[in-house]
Amino acid sequence: MISLPPGWSGFLAVWAASYIALVILYFGLGAALVAVNRRHPERRIQQRRRSDRVRAEIRQSLVALVSVAGYVAGGLCLQANGYGLFPSADLTLLSFLGWCVVSAIAYDTWFYWGHRAMHSKALFRFHALHHRSVTPTVWANNSDSFVGTAVEQGYFLVAPLLLPIPALVLVLHKLYDQASGMVGHCGFEHVASPAARTPWPLVCTVYHDQHHSNFRCNFSNTFSLWDRIMGTLHPAYDRKVEEMEHPARERPGGGA
Ligand SMILES: [Zn+2]
Ligand SMILES: [Zn+2]
Repeated sequence: MISLPPGWSGFLAVWAASYIALVILYFGLGAALVAVNRRHPERRIQQRRRSDRVRAEIRQSLVALVSVAGYVAGGLCLQANGYGLFPSADLTLLSFLGWCVVSAIAYDTWFYWGHRAMHSKALFRFHALHHRSVTPTVWANNSDSFVGTAVEQGYFLVAPLLLPIPALVLVLHKLYDQASGMVGHCGFEHVASPAARTPWPLVCTVYHDQHHSNFRCNFSNTFSLWDRIMGTLHPAYDRKVEEMEHPARERPGGGA
């Protein structure tokens, strides 16, 4: 059970702690992935392009993470102070696992439709900053505008007001989302497996890399289900995943 200090000072303390945790994860995991990528050039997804936006992405990410931390802290504190529709569910092993699954599905649904809306003519200007990275790097994960970040990450503020998600589940979900998002932007495929292609619902790095190189496909975050249902999955996604399961055998050549 996580207990939070009450009032505005409590909220500011949780906001600051959330920001520090996210920044440590951003730089720690980012540096680790860069080091691993350097040792595995055969796992690079897009062969022809290189990113020259690392500094700009890091600067913008440090700004955007302030609001990401604010949504997490806001959701946790509002729920802890009784503003949610339901009190937080009791935490048992079974309820922990169940709420992890519910939160993952709810977030993926939120993300798919919010992200797809950001690609509409009216809203894309708020998301264009994120898409300056056609060849994403690990540093691009949080590089988005205030509005783009709000639409995609606002889940962590709203979900605990609508669902009795235990605070521990929400915190772990956010940390998982930060880590998996960075893996998804790292430009090198390390997690391709049969579980990331049909008939299974999970995704690997190729999935979001294709979103950056193509713009009109792969709008979800954790699962490929909504893209498969709505016909927005990249037509070569499953084949590319299979190819990346054996990168040394299949290369060279071929972007996402
Ligand atoms: Zn996008
Ligand atoms: Zn992205």
